[in-house]
Amino acid sequence: MATGTVPSDAAKKARQKAFIESDCCTGCQVCVAVCPVDCIDRVPGPVYDTLQATCTIVDERCIGCRICVSFCPWGAISMIPARQVAPVAAGKPSAAPPAASGV
Ligand code: SF4
Ligand code: SF4
Repeated sequence: MATGTVPSDAAKKARQKAFIESDCCTGCQVCVAVCPVDCIDRVPGPVYDTLQATCTIVDERCIGCRICVSFCPWGAISMIPARQVAPVAAGKPSAAPPAASGV
């Protein structure tokens, strides 16, 4: 469980951040277990908590290490330019993330 939103120097300097495509995420929480800065949260499903759970990244704290990309068994995580995180998260089509650059 992410413990806060205070960004570290490494997070401020990260050129890329991890981004979870929620439609591909099963909520397995493998990424939560491996993130070295504990910046990934489980999000309960809207109707069925376990069946519909996903995870989301507190991007302000992500240091761009790519570990979660390597471990996600469903290919649900991509690395995107840090400056695109906010518009992509807001669903702006013009800011769609590029093809996954991790792994
Ligand atoms: S490891 Fe992948 S599928 Fe599992 S919760 Fe994280 S993003 Fe979702
Ligand atoms: S890239 Fe690294 S710091 Fe960022 S969410 Fe993934 S494991 Fe955590």
